Amino acid sequence: MSDPPSSAENGALLARARAAALARRDELASAAAQLRRDRGAETADDEHDPEGVTLSMEWERIEGLRLAAERDVVEIDDALTRWRAGTYGRCEGCGRDIRAGRLEVLPTARRCIACAA
Ligand SMILES: [Zn+2]
Repeated sequence: MSDPPSSAENGALLARARAAALARRDELASAAAQLRRDRGAETADDEHDPEGVTLSMEWERIEGLRLAAERDVVEIDDALTRWRAGTYGRCEGCGRDIRAGRLEVLPTARRCIACAA
């Protein structure tokens, strides 16, 4: 027994994924802001401090993750648009329904496993 891809369950799945992505993005944004403050303080203290390099690298890493979370939110919003239109979960390659198991793992999937491979 499987639900149609545009079921309420999948709408809830997307809403949960969206809330998680937003929380992750906000967490990373405040971590990046904190690092920027720390880095500013380090630079003011001593520009030769090797800590400054470490902080820069850490900031770049966090910033990369933040941008990825940002893209996730956009992807999820696209998926929600498809869900409202009733086309969510339909493979853009072959037009068949994407299996529920795949959507659970990857709620923003646009293609079935066969077409994505
Ligand atoms: Zn397909």
